[in-house]
Amino acid sequence: MTFSSTDRIFRVVDLSALRWNLAQTRSRLQSTTEILAVVKGDAYGHGDLEVAKALRHEGVAHLGVASVDEGVHLRQLGIDGSIVVMGGFYPEQVRILAEHTLTAVITEPAVLDALEAFGSKAGITLSCHLKVDTGMGRLGFLPDDSDSWIPKLEKLTAVRLDGVMSHFSEAERVGSPSSRRQLESFRRIIKQLRAAGHRPRLAHMANSAALVLLPESHFNLVRPGGMLYGLFSDPSLAEKISLEPVLAWKTRVLQVKKVPKGFGVSYGETFVTKRESTIAVLSVGYADGYKRNLSNRAAVLIHGQRAPVVGAITMDLTMADVTDIAGVQQGDEVVLLGRQDNAKISAEELAGWADTISYEILTSISSRVPRYYVKQQEDQVSWPRLQGH
Ligand SMILES: *Cc1c(COP(=O)(O)O)cnc(C)c1O
Repeated sequence: MTFSSTDRIFRVVDLSALRWNLAQTRSRLQSTTEILAVVKGDAYGHGDLEVAKALRHEGVAHLGVASVDEGVHLRQLGIDGSIVVMGGFYPEQVRILAEHTLTAVITEPAVLDALEAFGSKAGITLSCHLKVDTGMGRLGFLPDDSDSWIPKLEKLTAVRLDGVMSHFSEAERVGSPSSRRQLESFRRIIKQLRAAGHRPRLAHMANSAALVLLPESHFNLVRPGGMLYGLFSDPSLAEKISLEPVLAWKTRVLQVKKVPKGFGVSYGETFVTKRESTIAVLSVGYADGYKRNLSNRAAVLIHGQRAPVVGAITMDLTMADVTDIAGVQQGDEVVLLGRQDNAKISAEELAGWADTISYEILTSISSRVPRYYVKQQEDQVSWPRLQGH
């Protein structure tokens, strides 16, 4: 970790919180159920390499990525073991999958044919998991068409079916009838595969929400993503399990100015002061991933207090009203996400202001925001407090 106090903005990733969340996840599972930790989207914005290393160190056997290039990236950084490419691939990418021993997820006949053709020509066996669309309406073979695709599996010579999987569309909804239907459909497919002589070693369906709410969906492998990062796809899940946020996001005050009543702030003057005000200009904008629709809705933490974001968020700068916070000056730490003294802004709160989910907030933070990793919560990363505070 090489924190530089000349950075204007950064993220802090707390690996002890990641380990805590993994332990919470494991405590929900039977001893025979394995974990496929989802590290797609640069580990939900937390950094794929450091997160993958930490999870492997904790004994996580399988990692899940969205695309072939994400899998290749991890391999090039030296991550070995099982990496499952969950989000589909194109026939042209089979060679790359094979070269990097990535586990393919087959979703339709053409990619299965491409795998088989490549494997038999190269004289190798390629591992794959079969994805069934039990009701997500996204990738996968349709159960209703199983008469057409199950027989294709019998002819395989160079492809080994190591897993069968499906994905829920609304696992966070407690008692969802569609989740029940999906689960039943998945069980039927497993039976049909068995009847045709296929016994894939792994069966998996549960994302974070299903892991917490639907233990019947665990089978022998689960695929948590968000929960490992302390994120909830639905705020109601927060009552069901105790998770720690892993990421904090900080910037600094760049300029402080006193302005009169009736002063328009930022593009379009969507905020006009109602009193004599103190405005802090912050070094963060939508090019950092601080979404423009947070304008006039979000708050930030300065001196342990909430300051409202006022006026339009611009590409590189954001304004906050600090009239009610004494002594704010250039260089002061500003927490966009995380804790400061006794105050806190969660990813779910930020997401609520931006009309989205916490996952999108964290994966939207851009690459121009550096990341620092800490091994325990006490390892504070910040700028030195300036004289006078
Ligand atoms: C992203 C993803 C997951 C993880 O979902 P979370 O809600 O983050 O736990 C699991 N399975 C698949 C196929 C995914 O694409």
